[in-house]
Parts: sequence; structure tokens; C-alpha cells
Amino acid sequence: MIACPKCGSGKSSVISTKPDGKGKWRRRTCSDCGFKFSTVERIKTSRIHPTEATK
Ligand SMILES: [Zn+2]
Repeated sequence: MIACPKCGSGKSSVISTKPDGKGKWRRRTCSDCGFKFSTVERIKTSRIHPTEATK
């Protein structure tokens, strides 16, 4: 589960996905507060890094 960086809610929906060099980049929006953020999922480590949304 991925928590919203802003409110910590675990409810988010993926609005777009694209391949990243080493994994997958996902654009998400929080279902509770509407905050948009992206995650990069690295296949190598299976770690998920939430990042702030780029404007
Ligand atoms: Zn939120």
C-alpha cells in the first residue's frame, strides 16, 4: 500500500503509468485529499519511492 505524502491515506488511484528506465512510474491521486503525487517502482529492489508531484 502506498500512503499519501500529504495526509497519509492509503487510498489512492493511479491516473497514469509509464515505463521508467528501471521500473515503472505511476502518477497517483489521493482519494481522500486529492493530492497528486508520483511513485517510481524499481524492479531491482522492489522498493516504492513516493515523490512530490512535479508542477
Ligand atoms: Zn491525501
